[in-house]
Amino acid sequence: MGMQGLAGKVVLVTGAASGIGAATAFRLAAEGASIVAIDLSHESVSKVIASLPGRHLAIGADVGSAEDTAAAFEAAVREFGRLDALHLNAGVSGPSGPLETISLADFDETLRVNLRGVFVGLQAGFNEFNRHGSGGSIVVTSSIAGLRGAPMLATYSATKHALLGLVKSAAVQGAGTGIRVNAVAPGLIDTPMQNASGVKPKSGMAGFSQITNPTGRVGSPEEVAALVAFLLSDEAPFLTGAIIPIDGGAVADSPHKPVLTLSPKD
Ligand code: NAD
Repeated sequence: MGMQGLAGKVVLVTGAASGIGAATAFRLAAEGASIVAIDLSHESVSKVIASLPGRHLAIGADVGSAEDTAAAFEAAVREFGRLDALHLNAGVSGPSGPLETISLADFDETLRVNLRGVFVGLQAGFNEFNRHGSGGSIVVTSSIAGLRGAPMLATYSATKHALLGLVKSAAVQGAGTGIRVNAVAPGLIDTPMQNASGVKPKSGMAGFSQITNPTGRVGSPEEVAALVAFLLSDEAPFLTGAIIPIDGGAVADSPHKPVLTLSPKD
């Protein structure tokens, strides 16, 4: 059985060309939603929506640009008349290494995409939901690195913590007008970003990571997409301002165990 209230909704998904965003687009389309799929390359995001059932729109846009974001929202409303929900998911892992070696240019660029990108998405979403007046639901992709420190990925960890301040504040502001805002905080998920992040294999763990969690395995993008779909659906009307780890129990485990230990890149 499908999730209530997703059929016919128009949902904007950022970072939809790959990984978690692509899996969310697939899942929501299977539930009968129309997807406005955003990624840097129009060509790669077009390929994702070409395989989806239903009517969708692919847009090449940089989420860190307020102009690109405004143009994408305008195109979505021109095409579908309205937007009902957002998955603000695009992100980069940023520079890795001891924090004193990180260049300020890399620091600034990571904040531009991961934090400013979500902020301008929230602004555009609130404007759109208030325009049509029937509320909406927003899910932001944080990380377990937004709940714990991440040695060697301090910039990434800082952006993923900062997002949670936006989510909580937006949830409180939006509650009176039917706008729900939640965060998912994935642990290690098997996506291209993770494969490129420089995480090194550790003996005894399946796969390629040093992230430890009690299940001893990595998660799949589809598992995160199922949680996002639930949060965006009409089955979660009392769920707002929540930060939900989806991490195989990593943050529930002993606080003395690192959830993510990254070796510097070779
Ligand atoms: P991914 O690299 O497979 O997908 C990210 C997508 O975002 C890419 O298609 C990329 O082109 C797009 N993107 C990057 N910068 C953009 C920009 N400025 N404008 C528009 N699109 C942009 O990675 P993923 O693992 O699916 O990551 C999705 C989200 O999940 C990210 O926010 C990431 O931080 C978060 N996350 C991932 C993991 C994991 O283990 N994979 C864990 C926790 C959180």
